[in-house]
Amino acid sequence: MLARKGIDVTLLESHLDFDRDFRGDTLHPSILEVMDELGLADRLLQLPHTKLSLVAPPAAAGSGLRFDLHDLKTRFPYVAMMPQTRFLAFITSEAQRFPSFRLVMGARVEELLEEDGQVRGVRYRAHDGWHEVRALLVVGTNGRFSRLRKLAGFEPIASSPPMDVLWLRLSRKPDDPHGLMGRFGGGRALIFLEREDHWQIGYIIGKGTYHEVHAAGVETLRQAIAETAPDFADRVAELKDWKQVSMLSVEANRLTRWYRPGLLLLGDAAHVMSPAGGNGINYAVMDAVAAANLLTAPLQAGQVTVADLARVQRRREWPTRVIEALVNVMQDRLLKAALDPKGSFTFPSFLGWPLVRKLPPLLFGFGILPEHVKDEARRGQTQALVGRWGAALVVTLAAGWVIRQLLRKF
Ligand SMILES: Cc1cc2nc3c(=O)[nH]c(=O)nc-3n(C[C@H](O)[C@H](O)[C@H](O)COP(=O)(O)OP(=O)(O)OC[C@H]3O[C@@H](n4cnc5c(N)ncnc54)[C@H](O)[C@@H]3O)c2cc1C
Repeated sequence: MLARKGIDVTLLESHLDFDRDFRGDTLHPSILEVMDELGLADRLLQLPHTKLSLVAPPAAAGSGLRFDLHDLKTRFPYVAMMPQTRFLAFITSEAQRFPSFRLVMGARVEELLEEDGQVRGVRYRAHDGWHEVRALLVVGTNGRFSRLRKLAGFEPIASSPPMDVLWLRLSRKPDDPHGLMGRFGGGRALIFLEREDHWQIGYIIGKGTYHEVHAAGVETLRQAIAETAPDFADRVAELKDWKQVSMLSVEANRLTRWYRPGLLLLGDAAHVMSPAGGNGINYAVMDAVAAANLLTAPLQAGQVTVADLARVQRRREWPTRVIEALVNVMQDRLLKAALDPKGSFTFPSFLGWPLVRKLPPLLFGFGILPEHVKDEARRGQTQALVGRWGAALVVTLAAGWVIRQLLRKF
């Protein structure tokens, strides 16, 4: 978004490729709408992906509870499941069409350049030694272990979701169902993410119980998976060694301040969200869209003030905090109960109420305060606003007319 406005952008990525298995693969409708506004959605969706539009919450089996994204008012009423490596390779190659964009792979940012309390750039290490990039603004989007966050001296407020995740794979069979699945039972919770030729499986365990699970051995793990997801019993034998299993310590945290003069942190660097909500990618992308919208003019003018950076945080902080609060409730009420072998786990029936059941697809698909590309979206938004205000006016007039008729009768 910045490069297409002619602003010089250098993107430094510490890895030599974008292969990051340790991430979700979800491209939410809000992200697809942004891609559409940038004129990229059709090309993006030509790349191999699967579409997820129906979510049956884990443990809702038999209750008939389904969340349907088809009802969302959008060109993209689904979550596109695409490996992040493919998505990131796509957007960076599109960005490289702009002469003002430069991508440096294998560039590990290790130091901030500071002058008079102002961040003026970074120093990074690559295979050929140290380099320096001086910049009007440094944007730290370097994830949950953000080095920039540490260098800036920011200490996040951490919360500890009641779980850790074992991350493993099992093969896919042609007649398997598609999309995202969950299986709960017997104090266990498993999430299955469809990938091209395999299932990425998140085996959720109680916080800090990894050593017990590991000590019980791989055979016990295989049995547990087969018992919780009997349709996978035919392939648990593929799991032979702990080397095939990664342990992911689940953390959530947030910064109270996302910026310093010359530096802005976004995405996981500013707020690590619990994976239970499946929305970290969406919020990271929406942060970036909001930042580009709000900072294009200051960057073009050659001066980005602290007030400009504060505006980005003000716009994006509350949506992340509200969604995290909702996810926390879900974790505490549902996941804790699901992970308790003695606990009885039932899905709250009110989630099946007609109006209530529309809310989870909306929150999962768009999150709170989805962002749009400013110029392109403005016309559409204005039309939508005119439509909405027009409708509100008609309703008000109609209500006024009804009240007048009623008053006449009394
Ligand atoms: C197991 C798991 C499953 C998840 N599932 C989902 C899901 O289904 N849906 C969802 O929406 N979210 C999910 N998430 C969360 C989601 O992956 C993150 O919220 C999202 O990737 C955050 O994006 P980001 O750009 O802020 O950071 P990241 O995606 O972490 O990107 C940071 C980038 O910075 C690079 N980097 C790091 N340090 C440096 C440095 N010093 N110099 C240069 N580059 C550096 C990294 O190599 C990386 O490419 C999941 C997370 C986990 C761990």
